[in-house]
Amino acid sequence: MLYDLHCHSTASDGSLTPEAVVQRAHARGVGALALTDHDTTIGLAEAAEAARSFNMRFIAGIELTAQWQGRSLHVLGLNIQPNHPSVQQAQAHQWGLRTERALAIAQKLSQLNLRGALEGAQRYAGQGVICRPHFAQFIVDSGAAPSVNAAFKKYLAANKPADVKVNWPSLMQVIQWINDAGGIAVLAHPDKYTLTRTKLNQLLQAFTAEGGRGLEVISGRQLPGIADRLAVLAHTYNLLASCGSDFHHPNQPWQELGSFGKLPHICQPIWQAWPTL
Ligand code: AMP
Ligand code: MN
Ligand code: MN
Ligand code: MN
Repeated sequence: MLYDLHCHSTASDGSLTPEAVVQRAHARGVGALALTDHDTTIGLAEAAEAARSFNMRFIAGIELTAQWQGRSLHVLGLNIQPNHPSVQQAQAHQWGLRTERALAIAQKLSQLNLRGALEGAQRYAGQGVICRPHFAQFIVDSGAAPSVNAAFKKYLAANKPADVKVNWPSLMQVIQWINDAGGIAVLAHPDKYTLTRTKLNQLLQAFTAEGGRGLEVISGRQLPGIADRLAVLAHTYNLLASCGSDFHHPNQPWQELGSFGKLPHICQPIWQAWPTL
């Protein structure tokens, strides 16, 4: 059974609807899928229904933004109860922070002579959660950058002119929301934070001390050696191992649904915690 436990839809910064994500995952041989949109569960009902129609297993998920020692981090909540009050509280909190940030980003862009950014980004976000890639798309549309990547590099990435610092909830708070909702908190793509070995160990100590139980050992197509290194860390900290594509858009083969390597043998796959799924 192929498990893909990390992907995005139009509920956040993905470009396919939840139903279309499930359909694409099914076509690519995924047998069990978690939809994990940034800070929202609004896509889950549609995805769950689509998964039923394809006879796929479906795991309700979310990717929550947290902060630890001044950095922002992503924590997946897997197999949560989407209607649990703590999830509702988490979403409402993050929605507020994202709305405030969107206003501040638009203000900064306007000072850089890019007007109408809020409306522009909102058009891309639709009913979903507003994310920086929506601003990046607006910037590309207005001709100020040739690509989404370039728009990040020029305006939106950390310490660039339209960067806005957000007081994201603590790691402890985010893990608590997930645990209260019956889910498993998984530290997402640990290799993406550019942490030293020492810092990563400190992070994993804090993460496990606060109730985190999983590590994303495989995130899309990683460089060789990374999964083995993360598998050793998962083993050391007694964390369940997760894997996922982090799919956002078609035509990005490095994060295509179901397209990644197998978990190393020393791992304890997270789905062993879900025998009755
Ligand atoms: P947000 O959660 O609104 O801060 O947006 C974060 C999302 O932006 C990530 O999940 C990625 O999908 C996307 N992202 C971050 N950095 C880049 C980049 N340099 N180029 C393209 N997309 C990026
Ligand atoms: Mn994203
Ligand atoms: Mn992420
Ligand atoms: Mn993601």
